[in-house]
Amino acid sequence: MQRRAFLSQFLRGAGSNLAAPYAAAQADYSACADCPGYCMDACEEETGVLKRNNDGRPYLDLEVAGCTFCAKCRDACPEGVLFGEPRMPLATVWISAASCLAHNGTVCVSCVQVCPEQAIDMDNLFNPRVNDNCTGCGLCISACPVGAVKWSG
Ligand code: SF4
Ligand code: SF4
Ligand code: SF4
Repeated sequence: MQRRAFLSQFLRGAGSNLAAPYAAAQADYSACADCPGYCMDACEEETGVLKRNNDGRPYLDLEVAGCTFCAKCRDACPEGVLFGEPRMPLATVWISAASCLAHNGTVCVSCVQVCPEQAIDMDNLFNPRVNDNCTGCGLCISACPVGAVKWSG
């Protein structure tokens, strides 16, 4: 887990972000450079989680918000860069026991409350762990008051 956390930090530090939810792994982004950003505009009405790289391609910034899988970005894309069903899971998400309040004796259920998939298990009010229901939506990441929810894409 420490290795994952390190890699995640490295990737984020290098400016590598998570591909948009309806983009295939080998998506062709060539049309994005000349697009005004229909997908991003559609998403900002929802959460503002979808941003653009310098080359115009959309990406998710899970530090800002999570994805609701509303599909507005997909439906707004006139070029078919975003299409079909979302990747699942979007990201691998886990909780850092070292940083988490509830792993260290303080009651906190912020991540549990925001999760739409009941994907975080707790021992009574302590020791939260992400389970296999997780879609990688990222809603719990920005909900955590101490940055204890980590991810890698
Ligand atoms: S599915 Fe909805 S919330 Fe997720 S990136 Fe697309 S527009 Fe934004
Ligand atoms: S919101 Fe953060 S600090 Fe609170 S229980 Fe969840 S991971 Fe721990
Ligand atoms: S634990 Fe829940 S809120 Fe967090 S990424 Fe997974 S599904 Fe989304």
